[in-house]
Amino acid sequence: MVAALASFLDARHHNGQWQLRVDDIDPPRAVAGSIDAITEALSAHGLIWDGPVIYQSESSPHYDSAIDQLMSSGWLFRCLCTRATLSADGGCGQRCQDQNISGETPHSLRVRAEPERMRGFNDRFLGEQLAHIKNAAQDFIVKRRDGLYAYQLAAAIDDAQPLFTHVVRGADLLESTHRQRWLQHLLGLESPSYAHVAVLMDQAGNKLSKQTGAPPLDIHQPEQNLRHVLQHLQQQAPPSTARRVPEILEHATENWSMRR
Ligand SMILES: [Zn+2]
Repeated sequence: MVAALASFLDARHHNGQWQLRVDDIDPPRAVAGSIDAITEALSAHGLIWDGPVIYQSESSPHYDSAIDQLMSSGWLFRCLCTRATLSADGGCGQRCQDQNISGETPHSLRVRAEPERMRGFNDRFLGEQLAHIKNAAQDFIVKRRDGLYAYQLAAAIDDAQPLFTHVVRGADLLESTHRQRWLQHLLGLESPSYAHVAVLMDQAGNKLSKQTGAPPLDIHQPEQNLRHVLQHLQQQAPPSTARRVPEILEHATENWSMRR
């Protein structure tokens, strides 16, 4: 809801369109009905998207041709590493690159990262971001051993479609943004403008999510939820006369401002 509201308000404040894309490239992890629950929650909060919902699962041909392009330009290598055998920094490095692994052996595909060429970017909300944070500059997977496309590849390609000019999302994805911008660069795609917002954390500093046991959003109190999220985003509180969702959103859209 935090990322949804921030991106919605940012788009609407600038008279832009707000698109809904479902990143459903991981069928084994998909939970039946979760997409309906998301669209229902957005609608209940007045967050109505423009145009049809876009499904990543319908974009496979794009991802395949990107992999072909990266492969033929020499940026990919086959990797046999598992989570257990990877080095602490998450990289595979020269280990698999030098082995000339046959395409017959089950493998994942990694893209080579060149830290000195991975330039930082100017985040619209957070300011200058440098690429050498933590593991951002390690070789990373673009196609998994089980044949599924990696999130980094799908997001990099879809975010760079001409339809999308601005991406607003949670700061937990900052490292991914460096990787995705690197892929966009290698694929000759123009990167969109990025802006990241603070995610909601529990007291231990974990992002609130199903995985960390956070209860689901109560969609029957949308006005209260919107006010809480606006407060988290450090936005002006809507006046108490704004009682209903459309009034709260109208005030929030008009007064949307992300200060550095
Ligand atoms: Zn490897």
